Amino acid sequence: MKAVALISGGLDSILAACLVGNLGIDILPVNFKIPFCHNIKEEKLALTAQNLTKENLKKDLLIIDISKDFLGLLENPCHGFGSNMNPCIDCKILMLKEAKKLMEEKEARFVVTGEVLGQRPMSQHRQILLSMPKKSGLEGLVLRPLSAKLLPETIPEANGWVKRERLLSFGGRGRNGQLRLAASFGIKDFSWPAGGCLLTDPGFSRKLRDLIGHSELNMDNVMLLKAGRHFRLGDKIKLVVGRNEKENAELERLAKQGDYLFYPNELTAGPTSLGRGEFSKELLELSGRITCRYCDLNGAQATEIIYKKHGPGGSVSMRVSPIEEAQLGALRLA
Ligand code: SF4
Repeated sequence: MKAVALISGGLDSILAACLVGNLGIDILPVNFKIPFCHNIKEEKLALTAQNLTKENLKKDLLIIDISKDFLGLLENPCHGFGSNMNPCIDCKILMLKEAKKLMEEKEARFVVTGEVLGQRPMSQHRQILLSMPKKSGLEGLVLRPLSAKLLPETIPEANGWVKRERLLSFGGRGRNGQLRLAASFGIKDFSWPAGGCLLTDPGFSRKLRDLIGHSELNMDNVMLLKAGRHFRLGDKIKLVVGRNEKENAELERLAKQGDYLFYPNELTAGPTSLGRGEFSKELLELSGRITCRYCDLNGAQATEIIYKKHGPGGSVSMRVSPIEEAQLGALRLA
């Protein structure tokens, strides 16, 4: 008997998979990747797979990228957003729908998730937990082993595939039960789930809202949201200024054909900025002044800022002074 287990990288989903695996079910662990969960790194997932292996579960953790579908639902999620730009209910329904496809493909019989009743106000209250399986075509087939005894019986329990009495009744925001269970499984290295979803961050959400408002939601622009200070210079025109060496390098890496790169001459320490969109002469100068604002001028009133279009072609140098703070504040998104 096989079951697909959704693995977020956090402790609850690992515990749920281990718990059901220990009941003799062959677990197929899967992580659905979206571009906003920056803490679920490959090493973390490898660690997750090790935890699963420890319990004699199937060790091959599948990573399936659902970013394209996820971006589609971000524009107008049926169930709205949480406190920021996190469409948690639609996100989970999308993951369950994808899990259903995998379940059918791999001839698994049900899906396991690490959700805990009442742990998250928006996406884990009773009514939502009960409606999500229906909306994803998995009615009765989503087992939440950590809270199963507080929820109606599912098909795997009713059919005796898993024994209900071996499942748990965790509820609410406390974590003590999970910590005890982790210790009993010998799981030491873990993170709490969803802590790293950028969509729950107010600053990131502001930038994302701006992208959507300007009909610029695509993967290239989303990747750019993760680095630097963002400035809206016009419709379809943005400037992103690196905050440190790492971000400067990242902006150079993310630059595409047609983007502009701005940086100070070799005598001045300062950031790299990336400009995306159609820049007029005035906007090129404005971008130079914004870049200059973050340079170390060492008492000077102005400096040389160089800009060039990404790709072949020469660079241009301009002498500019820093933009005034009030004007800067009006342009800054986050
Ligand atoms: S916090 Fe982010 S990853 Fe988690 S359910 Fe919500 S939108 Fe999806």
